[in-house]
Amino acid sequence: MAEVRLENVSKAFGDAVAVDALNLTIADREFLTMVGPSGCGKSTTLRMICGLEKATGGEVYFDDQPVGYLPANKRDVAMVFQSYALYPHKTVAQNIGFALKMMRVPRTEIDERVAATARSLGIEKLLDRRPKELSGGQRQRVALGRAVIRDAGAFLLDEPLSNLDAQLRVDMRAELKRLHADLKRTFIYVTHDQVEAMTMSDRIAVLSEGVLQQCAPPEEIYSRPANMFVAAFMGSPAMNFLRGGIVDEGGVRRFRSASWTQDLPPSAVRATEALGDREVVLGIRPEDVTLDGPENHGSVFVSEPLGADALVTVDLGGDRVKARVPAPFRSAVDSAVPVTFRADRLHLFDAESGSAIH
Ligand code: ATP
Repeated sequence: MAEVRLENVSKAFGDAVAVDALNLTIADREFLTMVGPSGCGKSTTLRMICGLEKATGGEVYFDDQPVGYLPANKRDVAMVFQSYALYPHKTVAQNIGFALKMMRVPRTEIDERVAATARSLGIEKLLDRRPKELSGGQRQRVALGRAVIRDAGAFLLDEPLSNLDAQLRVDMRAELKRLHADLKRTFIYVTHDQVEAMTMSDRIAVLSEGVLQQCAPPEEIYSRPANMFVAAFMGSPAMNFLRGGIVDEGGVRRFRSASWTQDLPPSAVRATEALGDREVVLGIRPEDVTLDGPENHGSVFVSEPLGADALVTVDLGGDRVKARVPAPFRSAVDSAVPVTFRADRLHLFDAESGSAIH
């Protein structure tokens, strides 16, 4: 088993629709991450894939076989939860080897596979301890070990790093990515953390209120978001948005908001030709706002040093935008600064639907 396909998969709890006609194919050996804010339906989707929850519409396929009728233990998947769910009275070795014991694998083979799994996760010295004698990061490794020892076709991971402190999360992120490369299995990962999604995934599926917004490789999600929801959700700090319209001035088409006028590159001009006088939203990421240019357009509202960079909030006289500039940034609050938006990095969205125009 390798490819996982969701066809029009829905889940309703009473009147509440948690997942709405989701179509998604996760390729063999792919690392796909589902992201979205709390309550968007990611965990429910994962639970339908592994069989802990039954879809109320549509079908889940593993390698073209419908699996909706199969209980969780008959599906070729292993799941890792946020809560670890380790057996408190069993040792690390017993926890990791438990699934094999249930499958009546011979004792010597269990010992060998537990040792190999523990080595690959760097916990071979902890095999005789019990969960309460472990740190959060060590427990998380044991939970991972318990899943990966089974060699399932797909590994389903539901926020496995969210109980760890910031530094450990960064380390485990890299280790999980490496584990995926070593195991060569399909990984379906759920998180609300966009950095985890960006750093680990082959593709990211962004969900909002049970509806798939976009599914694409991280670079594409970041540089060509399909709508304002995706644009705002991915990237920290979030993309700047300015609401305005497209004006035609002597044959030159420009974007204009309350406080900003922006010449458009030819591709954006073409994309806006059929729009008429509909309202649009200009989007520009903080790293694409530079504080240079011939004229002063704004004033410094506040600046926040971030180490290598500084985040400067600039008041344009109506709109406020954030610029990420190289540190150190020394201008005092309220001092006038020039502001430029990189024209090749502009996004335009339909103000009403939020869909990307350019
Ligand atoms: P989180 O990041 O908070 O875990 P999520 O994106 O994983 O959120 P889900 O847990 O899938 O979201 O929940 C989606 C929606 O379905 C939510 O509105 C939630 O309240 C609802 N829901 C989930 N499970 C049940 C249930 N067993 N009964 C009723 N409603 C549920």
